[in-house]
Amino acid sequence: MKVPDLFQIQDHMRSLFELFYPETCCCCKARLNEKECFICLKCDITIPRTFFDDEPNNSLEKKLWGRIPFQRVWAMFHLTSGGKVQELLYQIKYMNKYELGLFMGERMGKNLKKMNWINEIDMIIPVPLHRKRLLKRGYNQCEALGSGISNMLEIPLRTSVLRRNMYNKSQTNYKKARRWKNVEGIFRLAHPEMIKGKHVLLIDDVVTTGSTLEACTDELMKGEHVKVSIATMACAGGL
Ligand SMILES: [Zn+2]
Repeated sequence: MKVPDLFQIQDHMRSLFELFYPETCCCCKARLNEKECFICLKCDITIPRTFFDDEPNNSLEKKLWGRIPFQRVWAMFHLTSGGKVQELLYQIKYMNKYELGLFMGERMGKNLKKMNWINEIDMIIPVPLHRKRLLKRGYNQCEALGSGISNMLEIPLRTSVLRRNMYNKSQTNYKKARRWKNVEGIFRLAHPEMIKGKHVLLIDDVVTTGSTLEACTDELMKGEHVKVSIATMACAGGL
């Protein structure tokens, strides 16, 4: 009798595991086929992409003009209320789906690879999470995205440059005018020497008011001859 090799045993074990714990789509919970990863194709094709290409002056850049001294700004998806992107962001942030964040980061990286300006980026910096919240959540969702981008672009991820001093209350209940106060002074440039003369790619999961990115960029610009570009997984329509 032929003795099954290790790979066959692993295959059998995986099939058995999937029988009891099938991988399902993050959005619609349908069972995924072997070519699908985290999201089924049916859901994936309906996710609203921004189609921001390599041309400057996309609609997100226009919304942030005059507030953030950026080089370029790019977002992968449009955020719609109750839509699939909101569900994906929620799962990455609150449902312990680090791997989904990494996967989305890699997708962002694949898109960013097509941009000419990406060749100028020296390092990737995620919007930091406060230490207490990091301990509670176990990971920083922006770092998961940043790691995925870093893997795809082979550009180093730096998490010690920017720090979060305190954690702010949820922004959802704040009126726009009060939001700026809510993030003012909460970030700190811990290692200005690391970004001297560098072009930094700042990563956030979603742009809503833009005030978090504004506060982070203000700190990064305290470094000498620093340039900042921004990439986010999603952007909300009404900034
Ligand atoms: Zn689905």
